[in-house]
Amino acid sequence: MIIPATLDKSAIIELLSLPLADCSPLFEKAAAVKREIVGDVVYLRGLIEYSNVCSKNCHYCGIRKDNANVERYTMTDEEVITAAQFAYNSGYGSIVLQAGEVSTPAHSQKITRILQLINEVANGKLGITLSLGEQSAETLAEWRNAGAHRYLLRIETSNPALYSKLHPADTHHRYIHRIDAIQLLCDSGYQVGTGVMIGLPFQTLEDLADDLLFFRNRDVDMIGMGPYIEHSDTPLYEHRSTLLPLQERFELSLKMVALLRLLMPDINIAATTAMQTIDPIGREKAIQVGANVVMPNITPVQYRKSYLLYENKACIEEAAVQCKHCLERRILSVNNKIGYGKWGDSQHFRRRDN
Ligand code: SAH
Ligand code: SF4
Repeated sequence: MIIPATLDKSAIIELLSLPLADCSPLFEKAAAVKREIVGDVVYLRGLIEYSNVCSKNCHYCGIRKDNANVERYTMTDEEVITAAQFAYNSGYGSIVLQAGEVSTPAHSQKITRILQLINEVANGKLGITLSLGEQSAETLAEWRNAGAHRYLLRIETSNPALYSKLHPADTHHRYIHRIDAIQLLCDSGYQVGTGVMIGLPFQTLEDLADDLLFFRNRDVDMIGMGPYIEHSDTPLYEHRSTLLPLQERFELSLKMVALLRLLMPDINIAATTAMQTIDPIGREKAIQVGANVVMPNITPVQYRKSYLLYENKACIEEAAVQCKHCLERRILSVNNKIGYGKWGDSQHFRRRDN
C-alpha cells in the first residue's frame, strides 16, 4: 500500500488493519521521517519508580489502591538521590520520577524537597520529568519552580465511554478531569507527554485512530504508549478472554508508533517497557519505526517486584548498572546513537514555546 501524504482517520484505520507483513512501506516511511526530522538518536530518561502508594483504583492497574496483595513502599530521599546521581554519572540526560497518585500537602512538599536535592547533586543539569498523576495548579507550579520541567499524564484512551469502563464511576476518576489536568500541564509551562494503552478490552481500531488524532489536536510534546497487559489482581482481568493475543497487541503498538511519527514528526516518542515485555526486542523494533526515547529502569531492585502495573514486566531483576550496558548494546544494534548527557527536549516543545 502507498502511504497517503495526509493521513485522515479512514487511512489510519486502514493502515492499522494491515497484517504486519504488509507494513514495510509504513515502517520505512516512518523511519525516514524520524531520521530526517529528529535524527537516529535515542535519548535516555532514567525511570525512578518512587512509590507504589496510590489513592486511585484504575481498573487496569496492578498497584491500584484496593489491591491488597501489593506490599506498599516509598523510596527514601537518599535512595532517590542515589538513583539520580547514578543517572547523572551515567550520562542519562534526564530522569523520570513516577509514582501512584497522591494529592496531600505533605506529599507535594516532599516531592518539592526531593526536586531541590536532585538539582543540588546534579548542578541543575539533569532534566526532570514527573509522572505523579493529576495534581492541583498550585502543586504543579510549586514543582515547576523546584526544577521539574516535563510531565507525563496519559489520557489512557481518548474515548470517554471507554474511559468510563476502565475506571470507577466516582468523581475521582472522570474523563473530563483528565482532560482538564492535561490542559493545566500545558498552561503551567511543562513539556507535556500523554499516551494511551493499546489493545484494551472494548477498544476498536477507530478508537486508536482517534487517539492519534487526539494527540495531534492537543499539540502535545511527547507520547508514551504501549500495549495493555492484563494483571490478575485487577477488575479488568475478567475481560481477558476478549483481548487480542499479546503478539497482536504488540504489532498494533508498533503500527501506532510509526503512524504517530508520520503525524507528529518532531515530537518525542517513547519505546515503552510494555513493548519489551511482550517482545524481547520490542523497544528496538519501536526505535526502528520512529521512537526516540527510552526509559531505563533505575529503581532499586528490591522495590521493582512491588511496582507491577502489569504482570511479567520486563527488567525487574536487573540492577541499573546491568541495564545500562544492555541498553547501549541494544540501541547501537539498530544503528541509533545515544544522546548522552543531553536533555533531548522535544523539538516540538521548542517550536510551540517560541
Ligand atoms: N499514577 C501515575 C503514574 C503511574 S501509572 C498515572 O497514573 O499517571 C503509569 C501508566 O502505566 C499509566 O498511565 C498506564 O497507562 C500504565 N499502565 C497501568 N496499568 C497498565 C497495564 N495493565 N498495562 C499497560 N499499561 C498500564
Ligand atoms: Fe494509580 Fe496510576 Fe495505577 Fe491509576 S494508573 S491506579 S493512578 S498508579
